[in-house]
Amino acid sequence: MIDVPELALVALVGISGSGKSTFARSHFLPTQVLSSDYFRGLVADDENDQAASAEAFDVLHYVAGKRLAAGRLTVVDATNLQPHARAGLVKVAREHDVLPVAIVLDVPEALAWERTQGRPDRTFGRQVLTRMHRDLRRSLGSLAREGFRKVHVLRGADEIASAEIRYEKLF
Ligand code: ATP
Ligand code: MG
Repeated sequence: MIDVPELALVALVGISGSGKSTFARSHFLPTQVLSSDYFRGLVADDENDQAASAEAFDVLHYVAGKRLAAGRLTVVDATNLQPHARAGLVKVAREHDVLPVAIVLDVPEALAWERTQGRPDRTFGRQVLTRMHRDLRRSLGSLAREGFRKVHVLRGADEIASAEIRYEKLF
């Protein structure tokens, strides 16, 4: 059971193919989920244009801030493997007095790679996934220190598939 404050900024954390978007779809409303792909598409007409990431995250943070200001749970569907990416989310949450929560999807690199092979929208090489996996291992130790108030780590496809979200009342 994953305890999430009913008002939180939830950062999904996981390598490409770990199942973040799938997890987001099954547990949250479409409008609660801000995905980096979607925002790249908005600013650059191409969800995969990595050169548009800075602008895309700028807009994503802005929308997240508006949602949190209105008291709405917000989920960020991005890899969130880099400390600076997560710092941006912690900052937005703090600016709105909202708790940042991390949900880590930790799957074997080989499984993520296998899934990636079947996706026309993911064309990176294996070494990119290996780097992401290394970044994930590093991230696991530092999430709490970075300001995430809760860090839920789901290990393996079975744990991810059977996870349930339980909302905690704030008052
Ligand atoms: P990215 O960071 O590239 O956006 P992601 O973490 O969002 O990746 P998903 O798009 O959710 O990953 O999943 C990657 C692929 O794996 C998809 O084709 C999806 O259908 C499949 N997949 C996700 N979860 C499962 C699962 N539990 N069982 C089987 N296939 C899955
Ligand atoms: Mg995704």
